[in-house]
Amino acid sequence: MNQLVLSVKDLAITYHSASGPVPAVRGVSFDLAVGDSLGLAGESGCGKSTLANALLRLLPDGTTTSGEVMIDGQDLFALSPGGLRAVRWTTGAIVFQGALHALNPVQTAGRQVREPMLIHHTVGSEDEARVRSRQLFERVGLPANQLDAYPHQLSGGQRQRVLIAMALACDPQLLIADEPTTALDLMVQAQVLALIAELRRESSLSLIFITHDLSVLTYVADHLAIMYAGKIVEEGPSLSVFQNATHPYTRALAAAFPTIGDPSSRLAPSGLAGDPPTPGALPSGCPFHPRCPLAEDRCQTAEPDLRPAGPGQRAACVLV
Ligand code: ADP
Ligand code: MG
Repeated sequence: MNQLVLSVKDLAITYHSASGPVPAVRGVSFDLAVGDSLGLAGESGCGKSTLANALLRLLPDGTTTSGEVMIDGQDLFALSPGGLRAVRWTTGAIVFQGALHALNPVQTAGRQVREPMLIHHTVGSEDEARVRSRQLFERVGLPANQLDAYPHQLSGGQRQRVLIAMALACDPQLLIADEPTTALDLMVQAQVLALIAELRRESSLSLIFITHDLSVLTYVADHLAIMYAGKIVEEGPSLSVFQNATHPYTRALAAAFPTIGDPSSRLAPSGLAGDPPTPGALPSGCPFHPRCPLAEDRCQTAEPDLRPAGPGQRAACVLV
């Protein structure tokens, strides 16, 4: 059996807002083996970023979590502050959603790539950090002279490459990329996807790639998990899930993104009318039933669990 870099069991995450509890993730389980990649898809608000941030314990103070996350064999929720510091960046690193606009405007790209190495002492000196940052720039396809550039001097695609270089700075086993291509135009999106696919080919890097565009995931992910209202509603090998989607929600997503990065589909992310429910106010039964074209009476009463839906594939729908 392959060694697991991540094992997530029944993870639930509840934010506490002024208007009450927000159960953003409601019992998610999956394993990720070393070198494997998982694509996480679903419309905005389904809990993808919450799940991603929880995997490195990067949730706001006061957020309640239950379940278990084992990262590189260690119990994430039992780690000491020192243990947690060691896990972040060196075991797992994340490219945050929207980080493209959050690079420090008054520091050069090179300095921002060197910083995690110096903070985490993965290099012995500033000189060593400079050497490594040049190697990282080469690895992500940026010319060395851009080490001295400030973020505003770089294009969106170049800034995304800087963020990926930063995430790789301490040579993590796991890269979590939260919608790294969503804000980029088509051609640049394709280039960043090609880069991530190449990084995976040349090392044993494990990957969690998040997007609301299902077609993108077939390029970078071996396995797919589709999230709706805080749960995985379908999962399996990525081509099977994309081509033989069994959950009506997955089918709607797959139909909405027939080709990579189709610009017209960006405006109507699921092709479905309406929005996913807010976590604090879920409908009874299957949370998808109010939007489901195939809903029956029984869908209003019980929320289905994941059940076998094909080779290696599972879906949470009573019709499967
Ligand atoms: P996604 O990444 O799939 O768009 P998120 O994980 O960002 O979804 O959000 C899931 C739900 O949690 C949304 O309803 C969002 O409004 C809510 N949420 C996210 N962050 C917070 C927070 N800090 N406090 C309260 N609710 C939050
Ligand atoms: Mg998100």
